[in-house]
Amino acid sequence: MNKRIFLSSPHMSGNEQKYINEAFETNWIAPLGPNVNAFEEELATYAGTAGAAATSSGTAAIHLALELLGVEHSDTIFCSSLTFVASANPILYTGAEPVFIDSEEETWNMSPVALERAFEESQAAGNLPKAVIVVNLYGQSAKMDELMAICEQYEVPVIEDAAESLGSFYKGKKSGSFGQFGIYSFNGNKIITTSGGGMLVSDDVDALAQSRFLATQARDAAPHYQHSTVGYNYRMSNILAGVGRAQLEVLDERVEARRAVFERYVAALGAIDGVEFMPELEGTYSNRWLTALTLDPKKIRVTPYELMDVLAAENIEARPVWKPLHLQPLFEGCKFYPHTEDDVVSERLFAEGICLPSGSNMTVEQQGRVIEILKKHLH
Ligand SMILES: *Cc1c(COP(=O)(O)O)cnc(C)c1O
Repeated sequence: MNKRIFLSSPHMSGNEQKYINEAFETNWIAPLGPNVNAFEEELATYAGTAGAAATSSGTAAIHLALELLGVEHSDTIFCSSLTFVASANPILYTGAEPVFIDSEEETWNMSPVALERAFEESQAAGNLPKAVIVVNLYGQSAKMDELMAICEQYEVPVIEDAAESLGSFYKGKKSGSFGQFGIYSFNGNKIITTSGGGMLVSDDVDALAQSRFLATQARDAAPHYQHSTVGYNYRMSNILAGVGRAQLEVLDERVEARRAVFERYVAALGAIDGVEFMPELEGTYSNRWLTALTLDPKKIRVTPYELMDVLAAENIEARPVWKPLHLQPLFEGCKFYPHTEDDVVSERLFAEGICLPSGSNMTVEQQGRVIEILKKHLH
């Protein structure tokens, strides 16, 4: 059997051990410590935000952002529908109600047209959302100018879920740095990893200080253990932050490698009628975390699921595009705003989409194996 080719597997730089050793030598094994502080500073510098707070996961960072915005039971939150469930699970933690917004064609991300409609209706009902969670899918930035303009008009803060888009740009500005809060993930499958971890970024350093307080059990300033508000255990460990520091040093290389993977797929398959790769909106630069494409059922006989089975038989991992959250049993009954009355973009992308192995540590030869199989079945 050929060696397994993964969708996106951890890719160590070789420097991780240096930072881990430092942590061991100084016995900073506990959560927090010098690596955490340094990782926060280095990531904030990279993202171009005033600060950053390291967390145990990207999901935790989203939850903290919602808490900092004062989200409660009675609130609603607008959220992209075409995303991983982690974008919206924290809404449920707060007891608030998610309202899902469809995608548009040019970025596969939140449709400004659908968002505008959602705002108009919620304002008419006297029930504006407390926040909007905008997701940047597979590394591609959403239409931030349009989305931010709408949210500013209604004075509703944005949380930018950049878990998949660290290293990407929108009009020269780093993805994740647009909203009141941005979040990144360092889960094992992301473009850089700490095995598990996340980051909350913002220009509001007071809010970040408050996030660190909430993330360490909300302990009041007192000599004894005193608590007057609900807290969480959401901080990153000093060892994992060491891994993150070494990973951040090679982030730009990882972006280049992922983009090269994408380019090789396009060169090999882009001319096939009915194959359409995820677009890169003009003025944006995607980290191409995952190479995603759609297969037009009118032109291509094989379905994404059949293709995944064929690849699986060759020990190659591929995945469908995220199942839209408005179709998930978990969110049954939640409101959803389609792009237009007769065009539900996220549902079409889910039906026709597939994500190909995209790891920065996949060799050209391994990718060649994937491409040969795809060529054979797509024609
Ligand atoms: C991975 C991911 C998250 C969550 O990150 P974790 O670190 O795994 O909690 C959130 N949103 C999106 C879009 C993701 O892909």
